[in-house]
Amino acid sequence: MTQESLRIDHNAVRAGVLLGPLTTYKVGGEARWFAEPKDLEDLRSILEARPPGMEVVILGRGSNVVVSDDGIDGLVLRLGHGFSSADIGTDGTIVAGGGLPLPRLARFAAEAGRSGLGFFVGIPGSVGGAVKMNAGGHGSDTAAVLASVVVVDSETGELTTRSSEDLDLGYRFSNLADSEIVVQASFSSAPGDPAALLAELRDITRWRKEHQPGGTLNAGSVFKNPADRSAGEIIDSLGLKGLTVGPVRVSEIHANFMVAEPDANATDIWTFVHNIQRTVHERTGILLEPEVKFLGTFHEDRI
Ligand SMILES: Cc1cc2nc3c(=O)[nH]c(=O)nc-3n(C[C@H](O)[C@H](O)[C@H](O)COP(=O)(O)OP(=O)(O)OC[C@H]3O[C@@H](n4cnc5c(N)ncnc54)[C@H](O)[C@@H]3O)c2cc1C
Repeated sequence: MTQESLRIDHNAVRAGVLLGPLTTYKVGGEARWFAEPKDLEDLRSILEARPPGMEVVILGRGSNVVVSDDGIDGLVLRLGHGFSSADIGTDGTIVAGGGLPLPRLARFAAEAGRSGLGFFVGIPGSVGGAVKMNAGGHGSDTAAVLASVVVVDSETGELTTRSSEDLDLGYRFSNLADSEIVVQASFSSAPGDPAALLAELRDITRWRKEHQPGGTLNAGSVFKNPADRSAGEIIDSLGLKGLTVGPVRVSEIHANFMVAEPDANATDIWTFVHNIQRTVHERTGILLEPEVKFLGTFHEDRI
């Protein structure tokens, strides 16, 4: 359904907001409607003002998405500053807002002398995005530390608490519906020495600088790893490192990172990713599944 005829009357909602700057690839068109609710009350009033049938898309730090050049024909929400808090309970549970950047969560936990969340320092997403994707690295993942989440359903406005087990978290997977917005997450942690934990964060940051194409436009690993191999190793084994088509290339540093030039658009990235997928499939029989989420409409006939 086109959302053109649907209007939303709320003073926090803006029309025609360019989404590229809100993502790490920096590509993509406009959100027909966009809002950054500052707190839960604001979020719920925006959802109430939305006309029935208007699609809602939740964007985190935009580090795992490619937004279509045609934009998103609906209401795009990004959690505002009231969702960026981090607190620690007497039992060591860390309660974080859904919009909190993961590196800040890692630093907060380390400075408080709580271990287990250090791996988040290298992942440039938000708490909500990490739960949705079960983000992980350095031998851990969100599932290993998540206790529970508070979600708002954008269709019903209902606020519920869901346990980590209930989310069925698997490799880069959760069963969160696209309508469920993570507004808060609680993490378990163990005691640790702040100085050692901060040193761990520095080690992880250094490792990332050495093994990933920092300072480039990308969205991290493009494909999920198949059962027993790494997607990057498979792409590398076919000699595709450095392959360049127009403004997109396979990183020379990490073959599962597809790096874009500033003049790339979303269609360039979409086409490149699907060509890599097709090449790998033809030459190995392995069908790599994208980890990156393509938001909005992509047109095959533009290849
Ligand atoms: C340089 C680089 C390195 C990376 N390294 C890693 C890594 O080591 N491990 C890893 O797992 N990932 C990695 N990523 C990918 C990415 O950072 C993670 O997937 C991250 O969890 C995405 O969070 P986000 O807030 O950016 O989500 P977005 O990219 O904005 O969105 C991703 C998905 O989550 C949904 N979403 C976002 N916020 C919410 C919310 N509040 N509630 C419900 N759904 C939400 C979106 O609708 C979308 O479906 C990397 C990315 C980059 C650019």
